[in-house]
Amino acid sequence: MSPIPNGVNGVSVSEPQAHGPKSQKKHSQVVIIGSGPAGHTAAIYLARANLQPVLYEGMLANGFAPGGQLTTTTDVENFPGFPDGVRGPEMMDKFRAQSERFGTEIITETIARVDFSQRPFKYWTEGEEEDADFMTADTIIIATGASAKRLFLPGEETYWQSGISACAVCDGAVPIFRNKPLAVIGGGDSAAEEATYLTKYASHVYVLVRRDELRASKIMAKRLVAHPKVTVLWNTVATECKGDGELLTGLTLQDTKTKETRDLQVNGLFYAIGHEPATSLVKGQLDLDEDGYIRTVPGTAQTSIKGVFAAGDVQDKKYRQAITSAGSGCMAALEAERLISEEEAEDESIPAEKVHVPAEGYLGTDKE
Ligand SMILES: Cc1cc2nc3c(=O)[nH]c(=O)nc-3n(C[C@H](O)[C@H](O)[C@H](O)COP(=O)(O)OP(=O)(O)OC[C@H]3O[C@@H](n4cnc5c(N)ncnc54)[C@H](O)[C@@H]3O)c2cc1C
Repeated sequence: MSPIPNGVNGVSVSEPQAHGPKSQKKHSQVVIIGSGPAGHTAAIYLARANLQPVLYEGMLANGFAPGGQLTTTTDVENFPGFPDGVRGPEMMDKFRAQSERFGTEIITETIARVDFSQRPFKYWTEGEEEDADFMTADTIIIATGASAKRLFLPGEETYWQSGISACAVCDGAVPIFRNKPLAVIGGGDSAAEEATYLTKYASHVYVLVRRDELRASKIMAKRLVAHPKVTVLWNTVATECKGDGELLTGLTLQDTKTKETRDLQVNGLFYAIGHEPATSLVKGQLDLDEDGYIRTVPGTAQTSIKGVFAAGDVQDKKYRQAITSAGSGCMAALEAERLISEEEAEDESIPAEKVHVPAEGYLGTDKE
């Protein structure tokens, strides 16, 4: 592979030199891996641009049902267009229906293997992983998402999404948390950020820190500790989640030094101990950052391999919202479309009338 000179901000974009065979089994111009807001938004744009995208929605890939993380939540209240809120699974059904309406081929399988060393790119589905089983795509969009790290404490499964969350911005404003004592687990920047955010709604926020210091940046740690609605409980871990059978009502805490235990009455528990991007599929082939997220050229969806794009939480450790995922899915689609049409225009074996021409300045908004 040779580096393309336009790599910026640490992402050097390479173009595979070798040209490989097209699969006899299945070849597509664009394949999308992942079925959350990013994958489906990309599919909607590409299908409307007549590129017949193929979207692999996964079979419990990365622990999520097709539709992604939002299938595990109750109400989504911050996605524009739903003034009364919408159930997460219902919203993802609507995304899927919209992808299908414009002709996306949705396949309920998990991609188990990819090979980006030559174009067209090769990929394999779970259970069909012999070399000869390969399928090919001219461009690939990785939208495999991420998952919040959890501790799986006793009682956690019962109260997950009934008092326990991993996203203060998503869930902090819901009525069960308003004017109630809440707890945040974590000692880094995101814990400080989530706890400070929750002070808008909570009567008080307890931050449970395993050690006797915060890993958060000095300024954030200082702001957190000084906040009148925040108490940092040092050397403290939660060992059990308790409730009334429906909602969380408290935690059992343990002092990591003395091993003493005690109860803390809280109506909410927020995990802020990090996320795991679903990048094992592309590790070693795409440039990843120190936390395993796919690096993209800033302001684009372009990964370190030309023709491979990334969208959604798998490349975003900052915002991790449905709307930002959808936005980056749109970017990936428009970039894939542009690349396909540029390459078709360069390929003299394709008759001019067959070259896919995106409208000048196409933004996917044109109506038929
Ligand atoms: C409980 C909860 C509540 C949330 N609430 C909100 C909210 O109210 N508002 C908000 O904006 N955000 C919310 N979020 C965050 C939001 O869900 C994510 O930001 C968003 O879903 C990310 O979208 P995505 O498309 O990147 O991927 P995901 O939603 O993570 O979906 C990725 C999909 O790809 C599939 N996949 C993974 N690997 C493969 C593979 N190899 N082959 C095929 N398929 C694969 C997975 O199975 C999954 O279905 C919440 C998250 C959680 C966990």
